[in-house]
Amino acid sequence: MKYNVIHRGDDVSFELMQRFHELAADSGLLLDEQSPEIVLSIGGDGTLLHAFHQYSDQLDNIAFVGIHTGRLGFFADWKPDEVEHLARLMHESAVSGNLQVVKYPVVEVQIITETGVETHLALNEFTLKGVEITLVAELHINDEPFETFRGDGICVSSPCGSTAYNKSLGGAIVHPSLDAIQIAEIASINNRVYRTLGSPVILPKHHHCDIYPKSKQNVLVAIDHLNVQRNDIVSIRCMVAAGRKVRFARFRPFPFWSRVREGFIGYDLK
Ligand code: NAP
Ligand code: MN
Repeated sequence: MKYNVIHRGDDVSFELMQRFHELAADSGLLLDEQSPEIVLSIGGDGTLLHAFHQYSDQLDNIAFVGIHTGRLGFFADWKPDEVEHLARLMHESAVSGNLQVVKYPVVEVQIITETGVETHLALNEFTLKGVEITLVAELHINDEPFETFRGDGICVSSPCGSTAYNKSLGGAIVHPSLDAIQIAEIASINNRVYRTLGSPVILPKHHHCDIYPKSKQNVLVAIDHLNVQRNDIVSIRCMVAAGRKVRFARFRPFPFWSRVREGFIGYDLK
């Protein structure tokens, strides 16, 4: 089984990576940065987002797994002191040829400019924000005008990302077995003049939304942790990515709702 490790860059994560390489060599796992079957992320969720984007053109062939070192690590199932256990389970799955994976939907983001269409995938979310002034944008759902948004911005998240920025915006947490995207408002201005729905909206697959920023507006476009400022955008289309999913290796069960409870409520249920 071919693997690669992406780490956060701190000493703890670096040492864990070294340790994993030793264990992997003893277990017959092969380091392959170009075409790994397993990508181990050591760090926080941000590290996993980096790993996802590094390999976003090979999603069908890669299963991600995470060890969290210190941070929230919502995506990461494993603790640093479990690295031996994880390496052993990986070895066993390599020997048996039986790798258990879960597949979760991601957001397809099409950025349309006068010169063409750029397609990106977001593991967590796409956000659009204003720069000097509040964002003004038309939101269409399935090619029908829905509302004119005025405010700080719009967030379109995947179920995996529903526990990230979306959650801070009052969005719902969506189980990743649902093929859906969620549109959440970031501080919309609502008064007699400007009106938006005010509630997060969840779209199923095969639906799409288009956001048309007011022309010539400087906007901040973010896909997960990657931010760029642009002034050439005609519109942005978001939908559940068809046929492309992120795969996580499950060497042991860790149900989504347990993950949510551990991440946000804590271990001790009274
Ligand atoms: P960051 O500032 O470290 O991320 C903010 C927090 O979100 C961190 O605690 C991070 O966990 C956590 N997180 C990331 N993805 C998550 C997920 N799917 N479920 C639950 N928590 C998650 O920046 P970053 O590590 O580069 O992550 C970028 C992400 O930050 C963006 O995709 C966006 O979702 C999120 N963000 C949130 C807000 C907000 O809530 N107001 C604002 C901007 C961005 P770790 O500590 O393990 O990294
Ligand atoms: Mn982070």
